[in-house]
Amino acid sequence: MLQSRGLETVEDLINYFPFRYEDRSNLKTISQLAPGELATVIAEVRSTKISGMRRRNIGLFEAEFTDASRATILGKWFHGAYLADRLTVGTRVALFGKIEFDSYRGELQMMHPEMEFLSGEDDEAESALHTGRIVPVYEAAAKVNTRTLRVLVHRVLQEIAELEDHLPEAVRNHLRFPSRTEAIRTAHFPPAGTPVRMLNEFRSPAQFRLIFEEFFWLECGLEIKRQRARLMPGIEFQLTERVREQIKKLLPFKPTGAQKRVLKEIADDMAQPCPMNRLLQGDVGSGKTIVGAEAAVIALENGYQVALLAPTEILAAQHYLSLKPLLRKVGYEVALLTGSSNSREKQKLKEMLRNGMLPVAIGTHALIEKDVEFARLGLVIIDEQHRFGVMQRFGLVQKGVTPDVLVMTATPIPRTLAMTIYGDLDISVIDELPPGRKKIITKHYSSDQVEIAYSAMRREVDAGGQAYVVYPVIEESETQAMKAAQQMFEHLSREVFPDIPVGLLHGRLGSGEKEAAMEAFKSGRTKILVSTTVIEVGVDVPNATVMVIEQAERFGLSQLHQLRGRVGRGGDQSYCLLITEKLNDTGKERIRTMVESQDGFVIAEMDLKLRGPGEFFGTKQSGLPSLRIANILRDPDILAAARHEARAFVERPPSQQDFAKAVTYIRDHWQRRYGLVSVG
Ligand code: ADP
Ligand code: MG
Repeated sequence: MLQSRGLETVEDLINYFPFRYEDRSNLKTISQLAPGELATVIAEVRSTKISGMRRRNIGLFEAEFTDASRATILGKWFHGAYLADRLTVGTRVALFGKIEFDSYRGELQMMHPEMEFLSGEDDEAESALHTGRIVPVYEAAAKVNTRTLRVLVHRVLQEIAELEDHLPEAVRNHLRFPSRTEAIRTAHFPPAGTPVRMLNEFRSPAQFRLIFEEFFWLECGLEIKRQRARLMPGIEFQLTERVREQIKKLLPFKPTGAQKRVLKEIADDMAQPCPMNRLLQGDVGSGKTIVGAEAAVIALENGYQVALLAPTEILAAQHYLSLKPLLRKVGYEVALLTGSSNSREKQKLKEMLRNGMLPVAIGTHALIEKDVEFARLGLVIIDEQHRFGVMQRFGLVQKGVTPDVLVMTATPIPRTLAMTIYGDLDISVIDELPPGRKKIITKHYSSDQVEIAYSAMRREVDAGGQAYVVYPVIEESETQAMKAAQQMFEHLSREVFPDIPVGLLHGRLGSGEKEAAMEAFKSGRTKILVSTTVIEVGVDVPNATVMVIEQAERFGLSQLHQLRGRVGRGGDQSYCLLITEKLNDTGKERIRTMVESQDGFVIAEMDLKLRGPGEFFGTKQSGLPSLRIANILRDPDILAAARHEARAFVERPPSQQDFAKAVTYIRDHWQRRYGLVSVG
């Protein structure tokens, strides 16, 4: 059961910290209690009853408790019928909560007190762990409850002498930290008098140190990784006058201030002798593609090849369609390599990449990772939009030269978070939209009002615009989504819009068909595109002005924002129409956020709040390290401090020996956990 929580060793256990603390130091007998105070009593059930509604779990459950002082107190629980089996006459419990006076009955009572069941076999010393003090509350590990964990941790801490303190002494002294042993002990069992509010805010000196320490090692690991990367031989791209001319020739419009700034950051990096590892962050529609193309031109003009990796085949095809004409203008051929192109074709393209005949290849990660060799690969652009975790620098080091890497993402992650997730990357942000963009008008309709959405689509198409209708992929069933999209396609094309050309796009189409469907929509031959979420990322058709999202309640906030970003890419007024079937509370909150805001940061933060960081970043492959006590959302200030100290330590270690010790420690303790693969 402990294992289910990742608790396998003594070290794991002592690093399993309480998530909450209760002040049960005010331990009294019932006769000593006064209304208004917060107190703990140890008492026994004398009688119980359920009143109010008969139906199970609806009524009020009451238990009368008594103790050695012979006085009594009532415990009351609404919807408490489930307690009837557990709080039977004679059961001993510790109750903690606010004491009130039931004036009608003339008795003391506690409403919904915290409760812990005491078993008869507890020995005296251990039962003192659970009451009469500030008590740690742990998240249960399967059926191992907080009480058992408390006992286990306490026993283990008693057996342990002094723990080795790995935090560099200079840092420890500088910040006046308690020792590691003391910090761990008091984080589990805070000494009497520690303010409980401070504990629950995770700001006691012990907690501060432990949080700091966790961030410190994470940041040290990332910093060492960066340092190593800087020592790798990279390509020193030349930024000649000709390169600048070519970039100018490429641009179909005047770049925004933000685009110019990030291009300069990228170009400066590329001119350095060490490899670039840079993250380009910009809200959907902010114009990242052209910046990527500019970077590509720098590499190409220097005689190197460029690879662009996209998360899906459709997105790869999309990049191909938009980059091909751009790069052709400056004289470079672009090829699309996808899993579904035929094998003779693939062989030929690979051959051309190997002997350097083909300057630019666009494909999905999987393909390029597999067995494609480049003669002179100089720049890899990874478009991972809001998907995380594709961060490993896969085997792209070839013939001793490491190519530059530019990662593009549309997720507006708060900066502190970005630093942690992409901690070994430098960050560039496009924080400005191209000029002339209008706010997208977002409306919410229930499914019986869908006609309103249809008439909006017709109106826009009649005025020369185009529209998307999107279906969610329901959990693992792309097939079902495909069927829904297929049905809707038939319904719309035959019954609703018989006079308007409608296209269909979903993940099960062959890659030629996908490309054709997209090309037809892009060129305006189809006016309405019915699609599954495959279009969620990257599709760029500036003439599209309506985005209808069916069953919008099934999408996450970031996804909805991405989808909405498919319209409003030109100068025309655009609309996003969210159709929902049934909405729960968080669903309502999501829809409300969408209707009210169009700011990617606001939306990402709300998403984070509604889902919590774990889910926000996806599960395992999120790249977000699983932290023990630190919490990125709660502790950004400590993160910043730890980062600062970690940088200083890695850049100017007190001695080589200290540094070597730190590397060994990270490798042994944190590497697997944080995925700091290349440290040490
Ligand atoms: P994203 O950052 O979401 O990848 P894109 O690169 O697809 O955004 O750009 C969105 C749209 O804005 C595209 O149609 C693109 O041609 C256009 N665009 C980008 N930069 C500018 C600019 N400086 N001026 C006008 N239009 C621009
Ligand atoms: Mg894009």
